[in-house]
Amino acid sequence: MSEIVVAAETETAVDVAIIGAGAAGATAAGMLAKRGISVALIASHHRHPPEYRAEKIGEAQIAMIDEAGLGAAARSVFTAFDGCWLRRFGHIVERDPKREYGGDYGAVVDAMRGALPAGVAQIVGRVETIETGPDQQFLRLADGRSVRSRLLVMSTGLSEAALKKAGMSRDVYSRHHSLTAGFDLSRPPSDFPFPSLVWAGDGPSDKLAYLTLFPIGNAMRANLFVYRSPFEDWTRELRDDPNRTLNEMMPAFRREYGELAVSGPVMIRPIDLARTLDIERDGVVAVGDAFMTVCPITGTGMDKALNDAVILARDHIPEWLKTPGMSAAKLASFYADPAKRARDANAEKISVESRSIRFDQSPRWRLRRLRSTLFGRFRHLLPHGHAHAGGEPHMRSSA
Ligand SMILES: Cc1cc2nc3c(=O)[nH]c(=O)nc-3n(C[C@H](O)[C@H](O)[C@H](O)COP(=O)(O)OP(=O)(O)OC[C@H]3O[C@@H](n4cnc5c(N)ncnc54)[C@H](O)[C@@H]3O)c2cc1C
Repeated sequence: MSEIVVAAETETAVDVAIIGAGAAGATAAGMLAKRGISVALIASHHRHPPEYRAEKIGEAQIAMIDEAGLGAAARSVFTAFDGCWLRRFGHIVERDPKREYGGDYGAVVDAMRGALPAGVAQIVGRVETIETGPDQQFLRLADGRSVRSRLLVMSTGLSEAALKKAGMSRDVYSRHHSLTAGFDLSRPPSDFPFPSLVWAGDGPSDKLAYLTLFPIGNAMRANLFVYRSPFEDWTRELRDDPNRTLNEMMPAFRREYGELAVSGPVMIRPIDLARTLDIERDGVVAVGDAFMTVCPITGTGMDKALNDAVILARDHIPEWLKTPGMSAAKLASFYADPAKRARDANAEKISVESRSIRFDQSPRWRLRRLRSTLFGRFRHLLPHGHAHAGGEPHMRSSA
């Protein structure tokens, strides 16, 4: 993997400054550099801190990283695998041959940052003050360095602190919407008959959305998605005694594929759904999780973050730079982009609906639950390729 080459200048002047070097920030920087636009990427750390999130993506997401010129670097740290079995209502209902990729998020982001062209000013430091306006943006770092730009891109992920400095705020509209856990299994991928697996929950009572198993290196990695609170006993038990908790929740797994045995730590993360408010401001745009978060159960978070970066840097910024000024009215074209709006709306809708179909007691959702259950029970009698129909919101299995 290439080293991340950090700029040492005390004053940097660029067309575009990006705060936050996650998937969205690195992709936007790569896209802009390919177009000859001067860009500074400001990261809080030299290397992305170890963090459990987005460990599996599909070809469509890799294609967007490719478009930024960073695909080869990302692939070098991903484990590629071909095929995913989907188990619902007691049956394997689909054996999808598609290629997917498993990897550690921090390692992937670092590889992308390491592959950015030398022309990208990569700055590591803590942004202390942000001044934005219709013509020029100014950032001061804690160590006194400064960055001037015509446009500021906030790709600061879940952190609210930097958004506040840019005059934005967060609205958490569904706290503890779901909970996810990542861990390795003690058995290697070769011990299982599938290349990767999505094992969906059986109904509202198990509170399981799904468990997905896929290879990362020589290990079988597990990402578990449940509708649980971080404070309930079950969550504590998952941390303290994962083998017993998992096998009790999924007794059929043991019968079909043997014991679920965990190796190493279980990383548990509660998930909130949030939107960023006051985004229409002079000189600054928000992308990826800094714009809005979705439920990882839907597998749309990375897709949405990368899509934001690609359409912003490919379709909007080059146009904006052709004329003077960066007024809020000019930047509104990004938030109004039909490709962005459609993706965001779909991700938000299925984030909310995937929960409603399990727990909402209104007649509408009872009916959809019934349709989904009936469809699922008899799905194996239908022609191949109909695994996702019925009342269930359509989720990507590459979550
Ligand atoms: C537990 C979990 C599991 C997930 N699983 C999936 C999944 O399976 N599939 C999927 O598609 N999506 C998943 N997601 C969502 C996905 O991870 C995100 O949508 C995506 O990573 C967002 O990328 P981003 O670049 O917008 O933000 P991030 O990757 O969070 O990047 C933001 C960056 O900004 C930096 N930063 C913040 N403040 C500052 C500052 N002041 N100065 C400098 N830098 C700063 C941060 O350190 C970070 O590096 C998951 C999310 C979580 C939390």
